Amino acid sequence: MRAAPQHLRLMTLSFPPTRAAALTRLHAFAPGAGRAYARDRNFDRPDAAGVSALSPYIRHRMLTEPEVLASVRENHSDADAEKFIQEVFWRTYWKGWLELRPSVWDDYVVERDQAWNDVQTQSGLRTAWEDACLGRTGIECFDHWAQDLAATGYLHNHSRMWFASIWIFTLRLPWSLGADFFLRHLLDGDAASNTLSWRWVAGLQTIGKTYLARPDNITKYTGGRFRPKELATHAFPVDGTPPRARGPAPTSSTLDPAKRTGLLITEDDMSTDWLAQRLPNLIATETVQTTEYRSPLAPAPNVIQFVEQALSEIAAPLATTEQVREWATANGIEQIATPYIPVGPTRDALGGLPLVQIIRPYDNAAWPHATHGFFRFKDKIPKLLSQL
Ligand SMILES: Cc1cc2nc3c(=O)[nH]c(=O)nc-3n(C[C@H](O)[C@H](O)[C@H](O)COP(=O)(O)OP(=O)(O)OC[C@H]3O[C@@H](n4cnc5c(N)ncnc54)[C@H](O)[C@@H]3O)c2cc1C
Repeated sequence: MRAAPQHLRLMTLSFPPTRAAALTRLHAFAPGAGRAYARDRNFDRPDAAGVSALSPYIRHRMLTEPEVLASVRENHSDADAEKFIQEVFWRTYWKGWLELRPSVWDDYVVERDQAWNDVQTQSGLRTAWEDACLGRTGIECFDHWAQDLAATGYLHNHSRMWFASIWIFTLRLPWSLGADFFLRHLLDGDAASNTLSWRWVAGLQTIGKTYLARPDNITKYTGGRFRPKELATHAFPVDGTPPRARGPAPTSSTLDPAKRTGLLITEDDMSTDWLAQRLPNLIATETVQTTEYRSPLAPAPNVIQFVEQALSEIAAPLATTEQVREWATANGIEQIATPYIPVGPTRDALGGLPLVQIIRPYDNAAWPHATHGFFRFKDKIPKLLSQL
């Protein structure tokens, strides 16, 4: 087989699933998180040069947002690192936004399952969906990103936007299947950032505002690696359920300090020292893996392995609610404490367990502000930073 031309070679990015690797990447990147990041972040370059590639670690809280922000602020003034700081808060904002409107996730799950049913019963849709997932649509950039994502578990933010736009407006595939494809393959696959970003591209998040990938923009920000000609030239309205009324921000459950307590660590938050310190009667610590609940299809093996190995740094993960109950019984545990489980697959998987969920101070302070658009939320960032 002939080697792919240089500009199409798949990236060699790798993400060792350890906290040590996460810290190494953070410390290597932090000096570049100032003006250089603001200048370069939109360019999709090989090996993610110019961006941090920290998202698989932050998404699972192998690194926490306060830790990342502190490291960057040690290297730069808030003014110089403004762009990077804002990007970190985009994740916080999306999570808060979904917490205030959990039905958006439930509606996505229903739409996705319906679309998946259509894939199984309509052969034309099935072929188009398979071609898109396998990167054989004939649209060179799109096919490259599909294959790159499958190989590395990562895509640059700009490529995610272009990919989602081409999926929806050029290939005319259901957006929920695209979101599902990302959730199965991204090492940072996240209910809030993924669902809401796909909704944003489709014009469902900011009503009437769609994101159309433009050939000249792709050519510029890929440094000329791609010059697509066959992209849709207009975005059409996409069907979707509008969000129902916004609810209150979640609150922590009440912990009984006298009860024998087990600490259950999920893939949504693996840095739990802050919580362990608040548990006076901590008897045992366990982890549970729920990655397979991200999709009705099997997530990519590298995604499952990443989470499994990361959790195994703490304890070999349990896989079912039954196993969690058995662990609690075997240790005489009277209450199971866990970092608050945000809206998404882990909550869907563990919903039946009586868990004492405690919200991090960072989330507690930020999420209630995710009431409207990001630009209103952004005004709160200086105050949130001062509370860290
Ligand atoms: C269609 C689509 C789907 C996406 N799906 C996911 C997803 O499943 N999981 C996920 O973590 N991100 C998702 N994103 C957001 C964003 O693309 C990634 O967080 C970012 O590309 C991660 O790369 P990085 O760490 O190199 O980012 P950097 O540019 O280095 O940013 C630093 C950190 O800021 C946060 N961040 C940056 N941009 C965003 C953003 N737009 N939204 C939320 N947080 C951001 C991340 O924690 C990131 O690690 C999606 C974006 C789009 C357009």
